[in-house]
Amino acid sequence: MSSTECRGRRSPTALRLLWAAGLVGALAAGCAGRGVGADPPSALWRESPGRGYTLHYAQGHRADARDVARRVDKGRREVEAFFGSPCPRAFDLRVFPDRASLTAVWRQAWGAPEFEPQCWMVASGTASALAILSPSAWKTEACEHDPEDRQATQKLITHELVHVYHGQVNPDPEFDGAEEIGWFVEGLAVLASGQLDEKRLARARAAVAAGKGPARLQDAWSGPDRYGIAGSLVSYLDRAQGRATLLRLMKLTSNGEILAALGLTEEELLSRGRAALTSGPGAAPRG
Ligand SMILES: [Zn+2]
Repeated sequence: MSSTECRGRRSPTALRLLWAAGLVGALAAGCAGRGVGADPPSALWRESPGRGYTLHYAQGHRADARDVARRVDKGRREVEAFFGSPCPRAFDLRVFPDRASLTAVWRQAWGAPEFEPQCWMVASGTASALAILSPSAWKTEACEHDPEDRQATQKLITHELVHVYHGQVNPDPEFDGAEEIGWFVEGLAVLASGQLDEKRLARARAAVAAGKGPARLQDAWSGPDRYGIAGSLVSYLDRAQGRATLLRLMKLTSNGEILAALGLTEEELLSRGRAALTSGPGAAPRG
C-alpha cells in the first residue's frame, strides 16, 4: 500500500513515504496514497475491459497481464465473499512490465520524485487502481517474492484488492491520511486475503509474550511482526464483534472514530487483542 500528492498539495513527509512503503509491505502489498491513475508515457500501453476493472498493460506483455487479470478475478471473488457484497466501483488494473515503469508512476502518484522503492515493493492498491509489477519480472527486479509460489502470489493480489474495496467505501479513497489507522487497513487486508497464517501468528505471539506488543494502535503497524500483530488484532475484532462491525469500521478514518464505534478505549482494545492472540488460534475463517 502505499501515498501522495496528497490532496491539498502537501509534499510527502518521511512519515508519509514510510506509510507508503509500509503499505506496499513486506508481503508486497501497497496502498495508501494518490491513485496510480496514468499510464507511463514511455511505453505503448493497451487497454482491455475486465470484470469490474479496466486492464492496462504495456504493448508486448499481453499474456503476462492476462495472467495477472485471472488472479485478480479470483481475488475479487474472495474479497467480495469476505465482505458479502460486490466491489462498489470499477477500478484500473495496471500491470507494469518492469520496475522502472512502476517506479515512475509511483513517484508521480505520490508526489515524490526521489522515491526509490525497496525491492520487495511490487504492488499498491487504492480505490481507483491496483498497480503491480508483473510477476514475470519479480525474479530479476524484485526480492522476497517467488512468482512460482502461486498461492502466495494470489494472496498478495487479493491483499491489494482488499485495499481497493476498502478505499471505495472509505471517505479517504486513496488513503492519503490513513497512516494513523494503518494497523486496521493492513490488518484487514492480511486477514481477508488469507495471509494471516500460523507462521505469522506464532511470530506475533512470541513478540507479545516478550513484551514487544504495541503500546498504541499506531504502533501496531510497525516492526518486523506487523503483519501478524495487525492481522491478529483485526481477526480478534472479526471474531468478537462480527463481520458487520468490520464493515462499519471500514468507513472510518481515525482511531478515535474506530474506538468510539467499538465502545472501547485504546488500552482495552489492545489488551483484548493481546489476550486473544496468546490464548487462541487467532486466524478467523475466510469467506
Ligand atoms: Zn497492504
